[in-house]
Amino acid sequence: MNTIHTLPQHEAQKIAAGEVIERPSNSIKELLENSLDAHATTITLSVKKGGKEQISIIDNGQGMSLEDAKICFIRHTTSKIATVEDLDTIATFGFRGEALASICSIAKVTIITKKKDATEGIKLYLEAGVLKKETVTSCQTGTTIIIDDLFYNVPVRKNFLKTTATEWNNITTLFKAFVLSHHSVHFTLEHNNKIIYNCPPSKNTLERSLQVFEAPLITNIIVLDSFNTPSVSFSGAITTQHYARYDRGGIFFFVNNRWVKNFKLTNALLKGYLNVLPTGRYPAAIINITIDQKTVDINIHPKKEEIKFMNQRHVESALTAAIKNTLENHLSEQLKKHVNIASPAPQIPDNPFQERGPFFLAQETVDYSPPLQHLEEINRVKPTASETKQSDQTLSSMIPVKQETIPENYSLIGQFKKTYLLLEHKDGLFIIDQHAAHERILYEKFADTFKDVPVVPLLFPLIIILTEEDITTLVPHFDLFKKHGIEVEQFGYNQIAIKATPVFLKNQPINDIIEQTVGWIKELQHIDKEDFFKKITERIRAQMACKAAVRAGDTLSQETMEQLLSDLEKTENRFSCPHGRPTGWLLTLSEIEKKFKRDYK
Ligand code: ADP
Ligand code: MG
Repeated sequence: MNTIHTLPQHEAQKIAAGEVIERPSNSIKELLENSLDAHATTITLSVKKGGKEQISIIDNGQGMSLEDAKICFIRHTTSKIATVEDLDTIATFGFRGEALASICSIAKVTIITKKKDATEGIKLYLEAGVLKKETVTSCQTGTTIIIDDLFYNVPVRKNFLKTTATEWNNITTLFKAFVLSHHSVHFTLEHNNKIIYNCPPSKNTLERSLQVFEAPLITNIIVLDSFNTPSVSFSGAITTQHYARYDRGGIFFFVNNRWVKNFKLTNALLKGYLNVLPTGRYPAAIINITIDQKTVDINIHPKKEEIKFMNQRHVESALTAAIKNTLENHLSEQLKKHVNIASPAPQIPDNPFQERGPFFLAQETVDYSPPLQHLEEINRVKPTASETKQSDQTLSSMIPVKQETIPENYSLIGQFKKTYLLLEHKDGLFIIDQHAAHERILYEKFADTFKDVPVVPLLFPLIIILTEEDITTLVPHFDLFKKHGIEVEQFGYNQIAIKATPVFLKNQPINDIIEQTVGWIKELQHIDKEDFFKKITERIRAQMACKAAVRAGDTLSQETMEQLLSDLEKTENRFSCPHGRPTGWLLTLSEIEKKFKRDYK
């Protein structure tokens, strides 16, 4: 008896569809590409329930003839290439003739289309790839495709769909990518019959980013200085040192206008930001890469999301240089504004990014006063050669705690600049950052006592406005806040209300904890549940400790300072704050003596 048999056509097609269409956003990508390939200048995308219920795309492109419409959903039908050699010079997004066939085989699809000169259009209705109904209709020039009930005949795949929130997030990211890479098209995105983004044509990437991003990003975005090498050139926009997010979701690459994912490119970009942003923080960037089509392979992935460069290393190093160059130019521009012309020109290091620690640029204004070079971190045990290489890691992860470096017999001199505590110690002058130290103390306290943290209800709930996308991300995780004494409720479609906070955060603006948590959820939602919970909890606690801690600029009483020092001494990881900044430094006596030239003998 035969055990091998040929799969029926419709079953084979359903399986093949899985390669291209895993989720609503994949099918949307294919449809948007088709609309662009058809030279549409207006594209309206509407989805219901994160695309799980319905997706519709209306374009004003060139449309299809009756004959073409009747075959466009058959596998390997394409108007874009004739032979595989055409791939070398392909200018369209599509070429495999697979997308419509795949989508139609796993959904109920309506296609309405008309060519410019045709008097009538055609409306087709298909179920599982089978044409069920066909009518001649009068309609606008262009194509409308409506996908109902994606995966209705592939229950396994349907079960793999994520929550509406997650699917919707994928769709908005995809939509942003299209908006950012096609400036002359008017894009609109609707969710559940509400317009979420309306993006008329605009001049450039910067203008485009204003249409799709939120306030903190658009106030800190600058044009990428154009950067050309003979084989590749870059343009676009990137955020400055004043903007940082907790995920990579703001980074977009386009190669010859095609949105691609390539983690090596991301790393090259981040290298350009080295020492500009603290570890674990990411910029936003929209990078357009123009390169000879013959030197890239876009056909390595069925979804055409990944790309291979013939000369990957060159592209990477040029990208890093483009980023550094733009940030450096921007900084020196800023610096010129800050410098009083009468005063002598400041000494700008050749490469300011190499000279300063990872935190200096996170501050509000840029300051090039020479770093306190002779301070020795009290917690830094002499680094071995291999440790020196890792100097950009957070201090907390790299520094072994050494008992004898703790200032045991100190006496408090006082507070300096309302920011540092100065201690006299037998080995020198010990300087403690009051905020970092208090942050560390609280962070460790929280770890022990969060179960019964006292909560105060707010007389007037604090209302926070978020994007609808962020709200949908956050809602399933409200419990996280509850566990930390923050009571949150959804309030309208784009607001949440904070109704109670832990006592120690009373009167503190906690919106950024909420906003940061959104970023963390997005970043971590793919890892396993237990790990997710642990990591998010750590980060929320670190932020709460930061909020509740005394700040730089707070005058501290003698009593408070003594208390802080004694608490710090009892704290296990007392040498760095939860974000990795050191809590204190020792300016050694011998360094002081050298400065005063008392060390000659
Ligand atoms: P591909 O894009 O790889 O050619 P598709 O399955 O996506 O394959 O589409 C098949 C064909 O249907 C396209 O080559 C094109 O001729 C036609 N088509 C699809 N969508 C549209 C549209 N929105 N406007 C005009 N023609 C379209
Ligand atoms: Mg296509």
